[in-house]
Amino acid sequence: MKILESVMNQVIKRNPNEPEFHQAVKEVLESIEPVAERNPQWLEAGIFDRIVEPERQVFFRVSWVDDCGKIQVNRGYRIQFNSAIGPYKGGIRLHPSVNASILKFLGFEQIFKNSLTGLPIGGGKGGSDFDPKGKSDGEVMRFCQSFMTELQRHIGENTDIPAGDIGTGAREIGYMYGQYKRLRNDFTGVLTGKGLTWGGSLVRTEATGYGLCYFMAEALKTKGKSFNGATVIVSGSGNVAIYATEKVHQLGGKVVALSDSEGYIYDPDGIKLETIKRIKEVDRKRISEYIKYHPNTKYTKNSSGIWTIKCDIALPCATQNELDENSAKTLVSNGCYAVGEGANMPSTPKAIDIFLKNKIIFGPAKAANAGGVATSALEMAQNSMRYSWTFEEVDSKLKDIMINIYKSASAAAIEYDHENNLVVGANIAGFLKVADAMYAQGVTS
Ligand code: GLU
Repeated sequence: MKILESVMNQVIKRNPNEPEFHQAVKEVLESIEPVAERNPQWLEAGIFDRIVEPERQVFFRVSWVDDCGKIQVNRGYRIQFNSAIGPYKGGIRLHPSVNASILKFLGFEQIFKNSLTGLPIGGGKGGSDFDPKGKSDGEVMRFCQSFMTELQRHIGENTDIPAGDIGTGAREIGYMYGQYKRLRNDFTGVLTGKGLTWGGSLVRTEATGYGLCYFMAEALKTKGKSFNGATVIVSGSGNVAIYATEKVHQLGGKVVALSDSEGYIYDPDGIKLETIKRIKEVDRKRISEYIKYHPNTKYTKNSSGIWTIKCDIALPCATQNELDENSAKTLVSNGCYAVGEGANMPSTPKAIDIFLKNKIIFGPAKAANAGGVATSALEMAQNSMRYSWTFEEVDSKLKDIMINIYKSASAAAIEYDHENNLVVGANIAGFLKVADAMYAQGVTS
């Protein structure tokens, strides 16, 4: 990095001890350096200095009463990162690891991801260090109500539209939506991922996983390959992993492993998705339960061990930095030829280097997992129209969007002399539209 080195230094100085945020910013700044060279007017207008600073950040106390009558305190966050091309849009992460660094990296990535979808949505992210795991439904409801009691002041259908992420699924969105409506007396599309009877969109549940496969199918096709007959590893076992697995199976591939934060299961005959859905979506249990239903399969403690299984295609769908340099080397030496990121920033920078150096077809998160938020934007469109599309209509729009994202990322990579490097391509394609809008709107923030 040359021209943008000072921007990076300022980010580090202004946001000390935020390694994930630094990592996400560094990758984007490195990619867009040639854009800065070609567009001195954007440098002069401070676009690069402004885009790395959130427009607004809200941190708040979330108090709630647990089942024993004890008062619990969590911290709530909403990072409203960039609204140049549309209202802030991004999920709410509920996980004990949540802190400002993680939500800022996610909010920052969301700007470019949302831009890549081609839909009018800005970038944001929120969450709390609350852990829904092991909590009763009543406790989760009281937390969500308390969280929304504060959050509702900062959001709105044309201002900021939160959605799900790790730890926030249909149940949590339901409790949050109920509280928003009660406080504001307003039935509006302020959250996405809603239930189908109260404004949700068909395909939203499946969208991130399905979209990942549509994106990778297109990338594979250009290299004369496909999911058909391929052995696939999917890490994670949440919403993204489950529906990626479902789509891989529909496309003729075989997913042989899935994981959670404690370990992974290996089923050489192909994962039985009905069992996973039951364990995860109904019983809310650990993935180790799988071997009780299918005794001829194997459970291993240590989730990162999943990358030692031989496969053709790997889809990391768990969480940030889950796939490191050594795992990347193992995948490559085992003959893996494609990696598609379903989670946000799951590969470390060194792992990405290994993939690119070895000419692995690599679908970076911002592009490959944009199907979730794209379908959220389709949910917003349906809410505005007070109308709903059929499953087939939404699914075909999602597919078109993912193919277009692949095409824009790959075209930008070629235009900036990085053919086949979709990391650079996605960062540039996402950035151009936002920079253009920020420039047109003047120095407004
Ligand atoms: N949390 C998802 C993401 O990382 C979806 C966000 C949304 O639908 O707003 O993109």
